[in-house]
Amino acid sequence: MSVERLGVVGAGTMGAGIAQLGCLGGFEVVLHDPDPQALASGADRLRAALAKGAGKGLWEPAEAAQAEGKLETVAFDGLAGCDLVIEAAPEDLALKRKLFAELEDTCGPDALLATNTSSIPVSEIAAETAKPERVCGMHFFNPPPLMRLVEIIAGERTGEPALVQATEVARAMDREPVRTADAPGFIVNRCNRPFALEALRMLGEKVATCAEIDRTMRDDGGYRMGPFELMDLIGVDVNLKVAQSFYSQREVPRWEPHPIQEEMVAAGKLGRKAGQGFYAYEGGRKAEEIARGSTVGAEVRRTILERIVSCLVNEASFAVAEGVAEPADVDTAMRLGLNHPRGPFEWREELGADRVIATLDMLAEAAESEREAERYRVADSLRELA
Ligand code: NAD
Repeated sequence: MSVERLGVVGAGTMGAGIAQLGCLGGFEVVLHDPDPQALASGADRLRAALAKGAGKGLWEPAEAAQAEGKLETVAFDGLAGCDLVIEAAPEDLALKRKLFAELEDTCGPDALLATNTSSIPVSEIAAETAKPERVCGMHFFNPPPLMRLVEIIAGERTGEPALVQATEVARAMDREPVRTADAPGFIVNRCNRPFALEALRMLGEKVATCAEIDRTMRDDGGYRMGPFELMDLIGVDVNLKVAQSFYSQREVPRWEPHPIQEEMVAAGKLGRKAGQGFYAYEGGRKAEEIARGSTVGAEVRRTILERIVSCLVNEASFAVAEGVAEPADVDTAMRLGLNHPRGPFEWREELGADRVIATLDMLAEAAESEREAERYRVADSLRELA
C-alpha cells in the first residue's frame, strides 16, 4: 500500500517541519493539534517557510503554492483515511500510548503509525495497539527541513513492510533514512554520548579549559561547535536530563552524568538561555569571544581530540556489536544528524584502530578506580582490529 494521505499529529517545532516536508514530498497532508492556537501557528510557520524558501530560490513559487495547497488542518477525526500518521506530540509515554490507541481506532488497522520520539522505546509506545507490526519510529532531527537524517526505528514487533514503507516516505521527503534498533537513544543520541561526557571529564581533570577544548574540536577536529558551546546552546539542564535518562535506562559507566553538569544546573548556569553557562552571554551572544590564537600546545590539542574521538569510536563499536545499526549507517547518521565532520568508523580509518585502542588503554591504565577504567574498556570488535 503506498502512502498518499499523510497525517501529522502535533503542530509544534517538529510537527510543522515534518508536515512541510510532507507537502513538498507531494503527499496530501493533514495536520492536527488539540490546541487550536498551536495548530494555527504551526500551519502559519509552515506557509511562511514555503514562501521564504521560494524567495531564496530553494524551490519555484509555483512549487511552494502547490505544496501549500496540499495542507489541511483538521480535528482528530479528520485523520481518518490516513495511510500514515507521524506523531510529534510531547515526549510523554502515557500520552503517546493513549494517542496511538486512538489513532489505530480512527485510521484503521492497516494504517502505518510512526512516532518521532527521541528517547521513548517504540515498543512501549506500541504496547497497547492491536497491530504493533504497523508501528515504527521515524525520528527526524531539528529543524526537519534542514536536517536530512531520519532514523527508521524497528520496535520489537514492527513488521518489515512497515519499515520499508517508512523508508520510502522518508526518501520521498528527500531525507536520508537509516535503520536502527529500538535501543536507548537509537543511533545518534547514543553514539554521541562521549562528545560531551569525555569533554567534561577533561575539564574536570583540568587538562584544558572549555574554550581550549571547544576551539580544538572546531579547528583541529572540524566540528562546527565544540562540546561546551553546544551544551550552552541546547541548555545544560536539558543535556543533564538526557544524560540522566540514558543512565537510568542502563547503568553503563560510560554514560554516567558528570558532577560538573549537576553543579552547573544547581547554580542556575543553564547556558545561553540563562545568560550564563560554560560561557557568559549578553543578548544571546557570547560576551567574550573565545581567545584567538591557541593557548595550549600541539600535544595537548592532540590529546583532546584523540580522547573524544577514540571514545566516540568505542561507543559506536559497542552499539554496532549490540545490533543497534550497521557501521555505514552509524557514520551517515552522525554526519547528517549532528553535522559531524566524519562518522566514528571514518574516524577509526583516519586515525587507525591501533591509535584509538592505545588512547583508550592509556586512559584505562591511568584510571584511579575500576569503575573509571571500565569507562575506557575497548569494545571487543575494536580490539580485534589491533
Ligand atoms: P513541541 O512542544 O514543540 O510540540 C508538541 C505539540 O504537541 C504542541 O503543539 C502541543 O500542543 C501538541 N500536543 C499536546 N498534546 C497533544 C496530544 N495529546 N496529541 C497531539 N498533540 C499534542 O514539541 P516538539 O519539540 O515538536 O517535540 C515533539 C516530539 O518530537 C517529542 O516526542 C520530542 O521528543 C520529539 N523530538 C523533538 C526534537 C526537538 O529538537 N525539538 C527533535 C527530535 C524529536
